[in-house]
Amino acid sequence: MKVHQIFTDNELRNFNYVIALDNGQALVIDPWDAKDIIKFLGEQNLTLTTILNTHEHWDHTQGNLELVEHYQCEVWAHENGRGKIPGLTRTLSKDEIIELDNNAKLQILDTPGHTLAHLCFLLIEGDKTIAVFTGDTLFNAGVGRCDGGGEVTRLYKTISEQFATLDDHIVVYPGHEYLENNLNFTLRLEPSNSVAQDWLSKVESFNPLTQSLLTTIGDEKEINTFFRLDKEEIHSNLELTNVNNLEVFTELRKKRDHW
Ligand SMILES: [Zn+2]
Repeated sequence: MKVHQIFTDNELRNFNYVIALDNGQALVIDPWDAKDIIKFLGEQNLTLTTILNTHEHWDHTQGNLELVEHYQCEVWAHENGRGKIPGLTRTLSKDEIIELDNNAKLQILDTPGHTLAHLCFLLIEGDKTIAVFTGDTLFNAGVGRCDGGGEVTRLYKTISEQFATLDDHIVVYPGHEYLENNLNFTLRLEPSNSVAQDWLSKVESFNPLTQSLLTTIGDEKEINTFFRLDKEEIHSNLELTNVNNLEVFTELRKKRDHW
């Protein structure tokens, strides 16, 4: 099993993921452009069996039907995506397991917030979780918006209960490449964050077409404002006093919407 992260080079900066199995079968997550996926799979001698959609937004599903036509593959997603996700053949629920190969598997996380039909996928090898595909729930140094069919309170709950609790070594595979902008937002709220400053200098010379820059959950705890809700510096830059974590999260999301 091998994970390929593909930067789609469109205005929205989507990432696609191909999970290639040793037997030549492949799964794809959130296909942006079917032709690009078909070309990639052809070059790698892979056949697509399954599309996984993290959620129903068009930029995560628009490749579905053309790929189904080409490969007669399955389309799996959240049950709330019924009627919204083109070609949906099977719904997935929390804790369900998708077997890959060589002891690798995906475990389904039900992660409402960005939308109410959002899944994320833990990648587990043996008994160790090695990565998480996060769609538009968690980005490198940021989180998803909630104004496209989501709810900020649910996103707060998802991030704090399902992501902040993950082990530090787990690699984050998000649905979009927004790292530089997100780091600037972190530093606007927390100028003294030297880890974020270091990441920003790394990112400034980074080309996502030719390079891969991955963060882990441990990195996110350092550079993602939405994981740092108890920091006094963030409160004072938000001009908030005596607030709870949900209130800080909500205010941050509001500010980031207009960033
Ligand atoms: Zn989305």
